[in-house]
Amino acid sequence: MILRSFLKLYLWRMTALLLAKKGPQQRVIIFHDIHAFQEAPLRSFLSFLDASTAIQTTITFDDGFHSSYRAIQALKNRKAIFFVAPEFINRAHTNRWQEFFHHNLLRTEDLRQYELERAVRPASWDDLRTLVKLGHAIGSHTMTHARLSKIRSQKELEYEIIGSGDRIEDMLQVKVDHFAYPFGDLKSIDERAYKIIRRRYRSCFTGIRGNNIGNENKYTQWRDPIDLGCPIKYQEFLLQGGFDWYYRSQRSRLAALSQ
Ligand SMILES: [Zn+2]
Repeated sequence: MILRSFLKLYLWRMTALLLAKKGPQQRVIIFHDIHAFQEAPLRSFLSFLDASTAIQTTITFDDGFHSSYRAIQALKNRKAIFFVAPEFINRAHTNRWQEFFHHNLLRTEDLRQYELERAVRPASWDDLRTLVKLGHAIGSHTMTHARLSKIRSQKELEYEIIGSGDRIEDMLQVKVDHFAYPFGDLKSIDERAYKIIRRRYRSCFTGIRGNNIGNENKYTQWRDPIDLGCPIKYQEFLLQGGFDWYYRSQRSRLAALSQ
């Protein structure tokens, strides 16, 4: 039993070493809510990025949490993109955001009340105005955090994709050029949605991992979800493309869909 786990670990390490690309990397990071206990790991992660010359990164925050708004203090001079769903932001000053959190973001964790209040409540439109003033970009993440591939009606698709960007522009008086589709996987997007995205936005971000160096397609910007609970060595391995081989077929399928 012990021998078998040792062999497994050894094989995994050898495969990882062989497959990891050590060349220059242009990666886009995805964060969501940042809990209080993640603030220190976030700072360590950002210091690691600052020190790395081979890995260039753009930071993005999805969903529009108040705790990601607060996390900008740790970013120092970095500028991030915040992908928000207007219907979530609209609930910032009401008590109706918790049902949105569980229903539309499909988050099922059993969070304690203080975590709900602190980490996963939405940012407000005023918070987003502050982000804009500080030079961060706001992108659309659909109107209601919808899984676009499940929507049959053309009108509804346009409301989610075009309506959301227009609403953010109205509320913040900024141009909204970037879009990230919710859930980020291959199953959550299709050709019909892509046609509308291309009409309205200049770029589209996914949740599929990959290096953006040499990626000419602005509508398939690869991104890396980062779990701040993992050791920095592991993050480094990820960002050097250690698992990119696993996502190769998903990247080519998405590239075909996005045309
Ligand atoms: Zn999301």
